[in-house]
Amino acid sequence: MILFENEPMSKHTSFKVGGPARFFVKAETVEDLKAAMTLGREKGLPYFILGNGTNLLVSDKGFDGIIVTLAGEFSTIEDLGNGAFKIGAAVPLGRFARTTLKQGYAGIHKLAGIPGTLGGAIYMNAGAYGQEIGCCCTTATVLDCDGNIREVSNADCGFGYRQSIFQKNKVTILSATFQLPVASAQGKTANDLEAELTECMAKRKATQPLNMPNAGSTFKRLTTGAADTPTQIAPGYYIEQAGLKGHRIGGAEVSTLHANFIVNAGGATAKDIKELSEFVQARVAEKFGIELKREIILLGNFE
Ligand SMILES: Cc1cc2nc3c(=O)[nH]c(=O)nc-3n(C[C@H](O)[C@H](O)[C@H](O)COP(=O)(O)OP(=O)(O)OC[C@H]3O[C@@H](n4cnc5c(N)ncnc54)[C@H](O)[C@@H]3O)c2cc1C
Repeated sequence: MILFENEPMSKHTSFKVGGPARFFVKAETVEDLKAAMTLGREKGLPYFILGNGTNLLVSDKGFDGIIVTLAGEFSTIEDLGNGAFKIGAAVPLGRFARTTLKQGYAGIHKLAGIPGTLGGAIYMNAGAYGQEIGCCCTTATVLDCDGNIREVSNADCGFGYRQSIFQKNKVTILSATFQLPVASAQGKTANDLEAELTECMAKRKATQPLNMPNAGSTFKRLTTGAADTPTQIAPGYYIEQAGLKGHRIGGAEVSTLHANFIVNAGGATAKDIKELSEFVQARVAEKFGIELKREIILLGNFE
């Protein structure tokens, strides 16, 4: 296990903010993970599993605990044949999506532009352009707090919109298996999938502030109305209608390109970003009576 002390989290988050983690562990094996958990118990410190830090806001004061990032044996893609794959939690989602796309498998190819890891994607049930990681996932293998490795079936993963059971039960996701549909069964070729992905990537480029540090959508989409006739509420629409595009607190700014993104426009602190997100919530609630729920995860002490 590779251990750093007082590691600045601004180096490990897409917002490029966040103070030091008291301990920062790079775990390359399950034994490393268990050693990190033991260290936590011995020192009485909490631990937190980090993916690629692309959905995360870490406090300026940092995290008085152990942050664990996965590498080594968690970085492999195993082709099990006939569209079945076993993917390590540290594998970038883009690598997984592109590898399977090239082999003519559909199902997750439109997720290639999401900048997180497989572990982060399972935890968040990441999705885009009508696809969600949970849809093709058959099992997730996890390490629980007692050091036991368990296999969780898709039905028990509790996948929903940006939801999984792992947000309630604290475990480390080690890997997941997938069964992907072959594109030819849908009358498509690998080239067709590539064209669909190119279109999704172009949409991202045109609508998202990819040239500025951010953590994707600040707020979750909301659903209202009767269960059989639901209405989707896109937070960006209401934020824009509230006149908040370009609104700034310190170095944090509501993106002028996409109102549901907060960007670090230069020198932002985590406090700026959190305050701006709360300001947006308050304004949208006041103007439209809509309660926006944060998608971005907060870590550390913001008091
Ligand atoms: C430019 C941009 C575009 C984005 N577009 C999208 C999009 O289209 N759709 C979408 O859904 N999201 C999007 N996101 C948000 C983000 O990329 C996803 O939520 C992603 O799945 C987070 O993965 P991560 O590895 O970065 O996780 P992190 O941000 O590091 O962590 C997120 C949560 O997952 C937990 N976690 C991570 N790995 C593990 C593990 N192995 N075991 C247990 N828990 C773990 C962490 O503890 C944390 O609670 C975007 C972000 C950016 C910056």
